[in-house]
Amino acid sequence: MGIFKKLVSWGQKKSPWIIHFNAGACNGCDIEFIDSLTPKYDIERIGILQHGSPRHADILICTGAVTLQTRDRLIQIYEQMASPKYVIAVGTCACTGGIFNGCYCVMGGIDTTIPVDVYLPGCAVRPEAVIDAIDKLLNSNDKDKTKKKAKSDKQKEVSEESNEEKSDEQ
Ligand code: SF4
Repeated sequence: MGIFKKLVSWGQKKSPWIIHFNAGACNGCDIEFIDSLTPKYDIERIGILQHGSPRHADILICTGAVTLQTRDRLIQIYEQMASPKYVIAVGTCACTGGIFNGCYCVMGGIDTTIPVDVYLPGCAVRPEAVIDAIDKLLNSNDKDKTKKKAKSDKQKEVSEESNEEKSDEQ
């Protein structure tokens, strides 16, 4: 690993910048996530900074199931982020589609659209769990990350195939 990469990795570990995207949540998970920014949890004091631009973010926090309306925007945000980048699916809906699965406008979980590194199930997910997930993500070893990413890519492929089959049937 070059010195620049080492520096970026150190910076991400010590002070990851995050961006939040609601792909189609009921707002329950969003309220809990936003709670982590308030003085009670205050994630900024431990170096985690919420940022508005995907170009400056290291971690994408996604809530809710992906809808037809948000899918393209989600892809756009993910593509604008610089590598190495990570995605955390917060809430059961973000992990699997949850209660919205099967709706006419719902694609499913976040991994139907972009690769996911960490799945954080729950309805709704508590702020402590989000903070813990960010910590574990940054401290997990690269081997695990690669495995999860490969698994997620595989799931995405399978889901794309099934979506294509569905649209062919219609
Ligand atoms: S997991 Fe629960 S709280 Fe979160 S978006 Fe889905 S229904 Fe809402």
